[in-house]
Amino acid sequence: MRTARRASTVEVPSFLRQLVKETEKMVTFFFKGGRRHPGTDEDDFDNEEDIPSPYLQMPILNKDTEEGGSKCGINYAMASMQGWRAQMEDAHTCMPEMADGFPDWSYFAVYDGHAGRTVAQYCSRHLLDFILDTGGVTVGEDVEQVKGGIRDGFLGIDSHMYTLARNESWDHSGSTAAAVMISPRNIYFINCGDSRTFLCRNGQVFFYTEDHKPFNPREKERIQNAGGSVTLQRINGSLAVSRGLGDFDFKEVEWRAQTEQLVSPEPEVYELKRTPEDEFLVVACDGVWDAISNEELCAFVRNRLQVCDDLRDICAQVIDLCLYKGSLDNISIIIICFDGAPKVKPEALQHETELEQIIEQKVEEIIQIIRAKDKEPDLLYVMKFLASENIPGLPPGGGISCKRDCIIAAYQKYAAVFRSTEQMETGGSEDSN
Ligand code: MN
Repeated sequence: MRTARRASTVEVPSFLRQLVKETEKMVTFFFKGGRRHPGTDEDDFDNEEDIPSPYLQMPILNKDTEEGGSKCGINYAMASMQGWRAQMEDAHTCMPEMADGFPDWSYFAVYDGHAGRTVAQYCSRHLLDFILDTGGVTVGEDVEQVKGGIRDGFLGIDSHMYTLARNESWDHSGSTAAAVMISPRNIYFINCGDSRTFLCRNGQVFFYTEDHKPFNPREKERIQNAGGSVTLQRINGSLAVSRGLGDFDFKEVEWRAQTEQLVSPEPEVYELKRTPEDEFLVVACDGVWDAISNEELCAFVRNRLQVCDDLRDICAQVIDLCLYKGSLDNISIIIICFDGAPKVKPEALQHETELEQIIEQKVEEIIQIIRAKDKEPDLLYVMKFLASENIPGLPPGGGISCKRDCIIAAYQKYAAVFRSTEQMETGGSEDSN
């Protein structure tokens, strides 16, 4: 009974998830920019005949990156990209040395803003200060006090922003927050919303944070108790995330406490003891998780760490992978490596070189087949052909799409060779065609 249930939860969800994702995308289009806020429609689109699209005609592919490390052996890199969205609303904080007085603590966070960027940016600049100002986080490290300080910091900044938003007429934005605070002894996982963090320990996803979605029973109950409803998997058919900072239009139920509103700013905080088997942490927004699972990304990052010593480049490769897998959102990712992270290995490099040789050969063969039919070799066709082939040794979690650069290089090489051969055969009469 139990096994049968397990089996079906493995097989059905990927299809279901896809279906839900497609529905989400359509709903997003219907709801003017994805996260409609009651009361803001008129303000934002007053004299507009057309609803502005939340998506661009072409994605913006420039990436912001940074990297660094701490004296205690933590290395990190971050990359973010606007992608298909009309606005870049993600923000982040990377503090390998958390603050004065905490030289061997680190703090990293991703904030995924919606309906504007003000709240996400304010949090990226000030949330850590609000947490530290509670006094709960001390070098002596009482775990329960640290967790309490983090929670109170979230509630504190949210009340503060509530006042600012009213007095300075901010946009009606909100933001998720996914963060890790790393002490010499522990890792604190901090989550509020549907961004996500996982820890890879011993080659496996050992821990990951739970997304706060309106349809989770506990979240749904809070929403209904605050007089709201969950329709189309959204709060009042509108907001697709059930916890977050900002979103003050969803925090106006006067007879309910701060953590009992339609949207709650209360983070879930979970601590784990650090071990030598800890390899790396990934903190990322849903622009990543919409496209790839925890296990796939874990396998992919582990694989890349063995062939590439540039952590920024690995972050960039993850972003490209998510884009090719269909992510339509802003994408932000931070990878934080501990001493136990996989290192570049000669065997892995050798394997990668062989893989690229196989791909190059396949591209050449495919182009030959196409030319034999008297057709122009087309890159998209070559890609589709390759995708249908069984190529052994592709990076786990990455598949053929993460070797796109290699395919393009081979395509350019062989398409050009065949073109010039043909030109020679036909007397170089390119302009007679
Ligand atoms: Mn997002």
